[in-house]
Amino acid sequence: MAAWADGDVAVEASRATRLRPIEDRTNERHRRCTQAHPRGRSVTPDLIVCGLGPAGRALAHRATARGLTVIALDPAPERRWTATYAAWADELPHWLAPEAIAATVARPMAWGTRAHQLDRSYVVLDTARLQTSLSLSGARIIADRAVEISPERVTLASGRSLAAARVVDARGLTRSAARAEQTAYGVIVDAERCAGLDPLFMDWRADNGAAAGEMRSFLYAVPLDDERMLLEETCLAGRPALAGSRLRMRLHHRLGARGIPLTGAEPVEHVRFPVQGGRPGPHTFGAAGGFLHPATGYSVAAALAAADAMAAGQDVWPAAARVVHHLRGAGLRALLAMPPADLPVFFDTFFELPPAAQRAYLSGRTDLTGTVNAMRTLFAALPWRLRRRVAAATLGIPVPSRGRPGSAMMEA
Ligand SMILES: Cc1cc2nc3c(=O)[nH]c(=O)nc-3n(C[C@H](O)[C@H](O)[C@H](O)COP(=O)(O)OP(=O)(O)OC[C@H]3O[C@@H](n4cnc5c(N)ncnc54)[C@H](O)[C@@H]3O)c2cc1C
Repeated sequence: MAAWADGDVAVEASRATRLRPIEDRTNERHRRCTQAHPRGRSVTPDLIVCGLGPAGRALAHRATARGLTVIALDPAPERRWTATYAAWADELPHWLAPEAIAATVARPMAWGTRAHQLDRSYVVLDTARLQTSLSLSGARIIADRAVEISPERVTLASGRSLAAARVVDARGLTRSAARAEQTAYGVIVDAERCAGLDPLFMDWRADNGAAAGEMRSFLYAVPLDDERMLLEETCLAGRPALAGSRLRMRLHHRLGARGIPLTGAEPVEHVRFPVQGGRPGPHTFGAAGGFLHPATGYSVAAALAAADAMAAGQDVWPAAARVVHHLRGAGLRALLAMPPADLPVFFDTFFELPPAAQRAYLSGRTDLTGTVNAMRTLFAALPWRLRRRVAAATLGIPVPSRGRPGSAMMEA
């Protein structure tokens, strides 16, 4: 067994044979590391990735593909992911294994008060295959919890301290009352029972039993494969978001109204995660790094797409991306301030934007011009009463709602 020189503490490397001593490497960064540890065969790794969710695992995987020496750290590195992840097909990187895609919907439907067929392919990922395809066979895996992270060092719950040329925090986001969340309650149903139900990116129609002034939720319906569909009642964002029990009742009500009664024996997916938080920067990635779109809750494809650049040490937060990040935050504020009854109208307007504008807003993480144009076009197309709300929320000005104090309509 070789010892990993990590400054003060030498860590036993059970997979040392997979690591190349850094004196084999010639680039400037490695010369710097060798100098920092002048004890001969220093094997300070190039990268430590803290957190092995989709983002951290993709980063560690792509870093090893580049030939970097990588430590991949997670309290439960072998934990199988269970969430159903989906993305727009054009967001995914070319290197992603084709088997990681479970199903493709060429033109999903969206409903506000009326139907919109979206001119953009949507894919549902095969979670297990996605995880396996992001192989970590080239990395050293440590089952431990990071308790303190700095740009070149991480302290673990076990008391160890590890150093690397670069440490990246991909630990996701922690829940907090201050953070808006997305919640959903889903069931997996035989596809033949869903005959007549189109795949739905979102369906805001009011057949879920919710009262008129209540916080809205929408139906999400996607194929998991040829035989099964995931039907999910979703609260896009709320502070607090709708409880799973409420979403369950609405889903049962809605599906019953559409001729798809549930037996209660269907496999269930519970969804709850913060849509706010994360710090963009060179040492954070995935949800922890501000990759999560606060107004949609998507981050997986953005992290996969940026994994190569992040592994290469490139700046994944150019000035344009940072401004887009702020604009997306303003978009979330607008959603949270929207009167519930107006959400379907808002989404009718959004889904009538040109496809390029929709794409820019939903996926253009670094596309400042596209994002600004999309938001401007959307704003101009909204009814006047909503423009006032959106403008005030974007600027952070509270707008009183009739009959309720404060501006919050999706906020309780
Ligand atoms: C059920 C569900 C469905 C979702 N569906 C979609 C979807 O369809 N599309 C989409 O884009 N997004 C979706 N999301 C939202 C979001 O993209 C996911 O939450 C995604 O998992 C975020 O990836 P991540 O790798 O950044 O963080 P996480 O998946 O949260 O991973 C963080 C990792 O860090 C580890 N960790 C935590 N603390 C420590 C520590 N102290 N030290 C070391 N490791 C630590 C954790 O064990 C975990 O493995 C969904 C979320 C949920 C919950």
